[in-house]
Amino acid sequence: MPHPINLQVCSVCGSKVERRFCHRNRAGAYICHPCQARQQGKGLLSVAVIRIRMTIPEIGRKTAILLAIGLAVVFTVAMVFLLAAD
Ligand SMILES: [Zn+2]
Repeated sequence: MPHPINLQVCSVCGSKVERRFCHRNRAGAYICHPCQARQQGKGLLSVAVIRIRMTIPEIGRKTAILLAIGLAVVFTVAMVFLLAAD
């Protein structure tokens, strides 16, 4: 069963963004995180990182962390074997 996504319209760029990627300002208007970062004077790189982060689903992020840990373990074991085989 698909989880209903709560979308908000960014008051700056007008794009529909998930609620968790929006900031509600004092005026009660929603602003997406990339626009917020831009308003805070952050560089293009941080805005790009936020944009990329927004495209990764919540479950995907957890899987990515597990994958990274798994890869680190495999890499460490492989290094130990390579050093031992010397
Ligand atoms: Zn925006």
